[in-house]
Amino acid sequence: MSARAARAARAKRRGGRAGEPPRAVFFFGNGHAQGRGDMKEVLGGKGANLAEMTRLGVPVPPGFTISTGVCAAFNASGEKIPEPVKRASLEALAKIERVVEKRFGDPENPLLVSVRSGARASMPGMMDTILNLGLNDVTAKGLAARAGARFAYDSYRRFIQMYGDVVEGVARERFETQLDELKERRGVFQDTELSADDLEQLVRDYLEIVRESTGRAFPQDPQQQLWGAIAAVFRSWQNERAKKYREIHAIPEAWGTAVNVQAMVFGNMGDDCATGVAFTRNPSTGERVFYGEYLKNAQGEDVVAGIRTPQPINKASRNAESQHLPTLEKEMPRAYKELLRVQQRLEKHYREMQDIEFTIERGKLWMLQTRTGKRTVRAAVKIAVDMAKESLISRETAVLRVAPDSLEKLLHPTLDPNAEKELIAKGLPASPGAAVGHIVLSADEAEARAKAGEKVVLVRIETSPDDIHGMHAAEGILTARGGMTSHAAVVARGMGKCCVAGCGALRIDAAAREVRVGGHVLTAGDWITLDGATGEVFRGEVPTVTPELGGAFSDLMRWADAIRTVRVRTNADTPADARLARTFGAEGIGLCRTEHMFFEPSRILAVREMILAADLPTRERALAKLLPMQRGDFAGIFRAMNGLPVTIRLLDPPLHEFLPHTDREIHEVAEALGSDAAVVRAKVEELKEFNPMLGHRGCRLGISFPEIYRMQVRAIMEAACDVAASRGRVQPEIMLPLIAHRGELQLLRALVEDEVASVLRERPPARVRPTIGTMIEVPRAALIAGQLAELADFFSFGTNDLTQTGYALSRDDAGKFLPDYVDRGILSDDPFVSVDEEGIGALMRIGCENGRKVRPDLKVGICGEHGGDPKSVRFCAQLGFDYVSCSPFRVPVARLAAAQAAAELATAKRRRVNRA
Ligand code: PEP
Ligand code: MG
Repeated sequence: MSARAARAARAKRRGGRAGEPPRAVFFFGNGHAQGRGDMKEVLGGKGANLAEMTRLGVPVPPGFTISTGVCAAFNASGEKIPEPVKRASLEALAKIERVVEKRFGDPENPLLVSVRSGARASMPGMMDTILNLGLNDVTAKGLAARAGARFAYDSYRRFIQMYGDVVEGVARERFETQLDELKERRGVFQDTELSADDLEQLVRDYLEIVRESTGRAFPQDPQQQLWGAIAAVFRSWQNERAKKYREIHAIPEAWGTAVNVQAMVFGNMGDDCATGVAFTRNPSTGERVFYGEYLKNAQGEDVVAGIRTPQPINKASRNAESQHLPTLEKEMPRAYKELLRVQQRLEKHYREMQDIEFTIERGKLWMLQTRTGKRTVRAAVKIAVDMAKESLISRETAVLRVAPDSLEKLLHPTLDPNAEKELIAKGLPASPGAAVGHIVLSADEAEARAKAGEKVVLVRIETSPDDIHGMHAAEGILTARGGMTSHAAVVARGMGKCCVAGCGALRIDAAAREVRVGGHVLTAGDWITLDGATGEVFRGEVPTVTPELGGAFSDLMRWADAIRTVRVRTNADTPADARLARTFGAEGIGLCRTEHMFFEPSRILAVREMILAADLPTRERALAKLLPMQRGDFAGIFRAMNGLPVTIRLLDPPLHEFLPHTDREIHEVAEALGSDAAVVRAKVEELKEFNPMLGHRGCRLGISFPEIYRMQVRAIMEAACDVAASRGRVQPEIMLPLIAHRGELQLLRALVEDEVASVLRERPPARVRPTIGTMIEVPRAALIAGQLAELADFFSFGTNDLTQTGYALSRDDAGKFLPDYVDRGILSDDPFVSVDEEGIGALMRIGCENGRKVRPDLKVGICGEHGGDPKSVRFCAQLGFDYVSCSPFRVPVARLAAAQAAAELATAKRRRVNRA
């Protein structure tokens, strides 16, 4: 691309022409839009989609978007809207007037607008919105004459409340109290039961509340209202809940929000009006059914607020609460039909599940919003797979659509169906999964107790954006009010958290720290269990079970496996873990830590006897007791892996870890071994390492006590021969830990080979040929990888120790300052979570490249915790690793991450080829 063409393309993305200042205000309406769907950076998600929907010919009320760039200018200039932006906004407003044939501030036929935020990434409910803007004492009269006094004054009082709250900072409760008092005086429950006169009076009261609270009259000039609202939306980018949300979702502050000003359409003009929210597929199961809720004679905020129980749009959307309510399909068949057509058009266009908002004004459908719908992990997998099967997207795109980290949630337990349960209430199944935890009644308490390591369930009347941090910290969320599209439900699904919403039987008394439900009284701190898939609430701590994996999940994993080049193994020390990992798709064991086998109560005495032995014969006697036990361990693992490679690491930790610590334990051990407590204590002292991650451990032990490693190699080989002799297949790989010097590897390789040969001499028919390799887990090993490769059949990067020794940092110490390092940008990630080129990855690259220079067929893998981290998996794929190895539950995560890495690498390669 030439520099000129690049400039033009850049300018086009910003919505302007090269050489001109970037456009700040973008009009859309009547089938034409100055913006486009691919301009999210400039228009925010909402603005870009409004422009795109307009271009698609979907009925969208006309409006304009003020670009995200203005947000930064606004904040940098002491919260002033730049004059050119004001001029362009007024020009766009005039266009809206022409389309809808109404005028802003017109006493007879006034145009009303909504003013909404819209950032590049969706931040539901985090920023401010103002509706019905343009109403004042005069225009309200005009509107009353056209659309009825009840409607006009209802709109006006809503506007005064929103504007008063958001722009003028008047406490919302003041308005609400006034409204409640009026309803009480009139003896009514619903707002809709108030008369036009009541509402007109309420307007007067509200105007007085504003005057009293601010010392100024409520602004009557619509233009002044407009600038006030736009400024308030820009300002709301910096409110506390928006900041917290950005922090949790890693959204940069510099992005800013756009502002969308759009002609109002009304869902609250009577019974031929409605407003609703829908998903093109079921967001909780992923099923391909149009799914949504609506409220008759209401405005959009009423649905989201969850105050009235919404009606289902069709039969498929019915739930326990709404099964008796009439559907939109039945009540407004024409509008429903058009909605159905529009949602199909939108999903086909975006090739992605959409979350849409609509309003029906006097029978006419208007689309207010479309965006990629949030969904549970289960739904994400099903939707991606179904869309590929429907040829909407490719299999590769399907694989790229699911976040690898989220998969782990699918593998985790659900409630044990056979467990005894005490059902105490039922709400809506708002987000599936199981949550077991202590009851907490506030978001702050949830955060504090979760930080202290407790599992908590957040129980609230309803949630609001102020509760985000508590929802994040909780295992699950239970609310008394709200539907499937209430705040709690939507946010929980986005977080992949279990949520039961709208559990009407709950009576929460925050002051008494009590929850009453159907005759039960629970106290904050009591155990409670939620089933998000059924909406059931149980008293106490219900046991859970691991779920079945099949259907869409296995399709997606199969497609991922077809794409990836890196193999995925597991870290497992027991046959049970090995079998579990195989059900998750593990292709071998990348690390079997033998020390865990020594800690078993039935063995620890023999281990201690071996360590405390005063001479070689005593030690050999103890080792002889351990040999058959180890042989049994390895045979079980070989059988579980059925011919897949199994890397067994010889003993690694310093010996004092196996010894008793307290006086009582020391006495017990001395007695059991017929020794003296003083002798045992002296040995404990002698072996103690000042820093347990360094010192006399790993291969250094193998050199000091070769008989230990010989016993282990013999156990591995005898087990392998036994399994092979009974027609089993085995592929053992023997791994030496903590190698830092060529001489260590040379000596120990010879020892291992010698013991292998001696077992094979004793059992001639077995053809078991183990490979011998080394861990790369201290920096020096990476630096001399070329020398080590001459003596190793494989390398396995032990990034746990490599991170500790590379950064001179223990995991425990890490918590003291690493979060601050990440906040300040010194490190982009916690190095114990992700490896990359700037961190320990630099040593991995050196190690891998130097090793393969000497030995091109060197097998290279990773077995530190990083092996299950998607970013690290991508990094290993870039380095050309043969495999990653991780804990069983991370295996599917790694498989998907490896596939995504392969797809991305292939795309990058295609681009390079095309450029060349
Ligand atoms: C490592 O150091 O990365 C490793 C896998 O070994 P361990 O965690 O057992 O020290
Ligand atoms: Mg290690």
